[in-house]
Amino acid sequence: MTTLLNDPVTRSEAYFGGAWHATPNTFEVIHPGTLEPIGSVADCTADDARRAIDAAGEALKEWRRVNPYRRGQILRTWHDLMLEHREPLARLMTLEMGKPITETRGEVLYAASFIEWCAEEASRIGGERVPSRFDHKRGFTASEPVGVVYAVTPWNFPAGMITRKAAPALAAGCVMILKPAEQSPMTALYLAELWLEAGGPANTLQVLPTSDAPSFSAPFMADSRVRKLTFTGSTAVGRLLYGQAAQTLKRVSLELGGHAPFLIFADADLERAAREVIGSKFRNAGQTCISTNRVYVQRDVAAEFTAVLSRLTGELVLGDPLQDRTNVGPVVEQAGLDKVRAQVEDALARGARAAVGGAHQGGLYFQPTVLTDVHPDSLILREETFGPVAPVVAFDTEQEALALANDSEYGLAAYAYTRDLSRAFRVAEALEYGIVGINDGGPSAAAPQMPFGGMKNSGVGREGGHWGLEEYLETKYISLGL
Ligand code: NAD
Repeated sequence: MTTLLNDPVTRSEAYFGGAWHATPNTFEVIHPGTLEPIGSVADCTADDARRAIDAAGEALKEWRRVNPYRRGQILRTWHDLMLEHREPLARLMTLEMGKPITETRGEVLYAASFIEWCAEEASRIGGERVPSRFDHKRGFTASEPVGVVYAVTPWNFPAGMITRKAAPALAAGCVMILKPAEQSPMTALYLAELWLEAGGPANTLQVLPTSDAPSFSAPFMADSRVRKLTFTGSTAVGRLLYGQAAQTLKRVSLELGGHAPFLIFADADLERAAREVIGSKFRNAGQTCISTNRVYVQRDVAAEFTAVLSRLTGELVLGDPLQDRTNVGPVVEQAGLDKVRAQVEDALARGARAAVGGAHQGGLYFQPTVLTDVHPDSLILREETFGPVAPVVAFDTEQEALALANDSEYGLAAYAYTRDLSRAFRVAEALEYGIVGINDGGPSAAAPQMPFGGMKNSGVGREGGHWGLEEYLETKYISLGL
């Protein structure tokens, strides 16, 4: 019998203090597809965290002085190595968190694109000459690295959520200590290995897995040498860390939860709109922060649209994420599955109907599902689902659609389909979301130059493009008297 245990792509040792460490304690990483362990990784402690902070402080002194052009060259090599290692990296991500292999291959390209963009941009980090009101003065600004950065990342994009932070930080001259998610620490270790192979100096990117995130994180929050916290994950944890970071007034970037509405107006190309809802909803089994969570369709076309959406959803292949033919894999863990089941049961109990799917299919697999006649009080219309379920709700007017879409504590991503140009602008301007896709269900695909982030409870700050780079830069004003 073949076993997934200790597959050649797996990793186990943590990297900090200039060396790879097998710690006394370890924890297991489980493949969600079969619930088999794939191996164990170092379980780092608060003492290890303190060693990493000391090492980062030393590394920062050198790295911030490295010519930005040279920093860009090292980043470029890191990017190239990621592409060389595309297949093992994709396999490792699929083993760790169950995303279908065709998608993890895409994620390697997506993750590497942030490195490529920042490699090019590193040499353009400069400053400005600012005219003074006084004839005898000259004003200048200089962009300087923020310093030591603590990064905490989720499991749903094991590579992308790391490079979207590490690439701009390293390009800016910062050094980073990364605590990856418990479910996907090996991908992070693999990326650190490639960074060192690319010529990244010791301790510029340290990666420490842990099974005890709160205790491990405490030293970073209390230490004023750590000048920035960058976090991607749930709103609850983000809010907690935001409060903790306030003690030492760190710069903070938070990429948090979402609850994306997808509006389909009667004038839309329904087949195309349905295909884009499928991409947005069922990609990564619905475990994407910008996944469509609510579908609102204008009443005149609701029956026709739901029929198309249900037909296409019924064609999706649910199964082994290591197979190329699979469209939808398992969810990441039991708690995630329980949440999906609870939301579906709640909706059905309030009168909804499963037009397709609706059931658990063993292990961590849930059928791709379309729900209709969903009652407005249903949990699924308020709470982030993070699973393969699309609730469809009918609306009458544009005004009503916008009110429904904006009635959320979240403000990450929203989508609308229409052929009416004026409506497209009205809707884009009225949606209270950081990312709006008009006739585009995948606005963040292959877009390292675009800003990514949310309003309201979806976060603080932006990643990607020059906005993402500026999160790692301080502006210094230099005044010269003649
Ligand atoms: P999570 O908040 O449970 O965990 C995220 C990270 O925080 C993990 O590394 C975890 O170990 C760590 N963590 C948990 N408790 C902590 C504590 N007390 N102190 C320090 N660290 C702690 O989220 P998750 O379930 O891993 O990820 C899913 C969530 O992430 C969803 O809400 C999703 O929308 C969000 N997300 C947002 C974006 C975005 O860009 N806005 C991107 C991806 C995921």
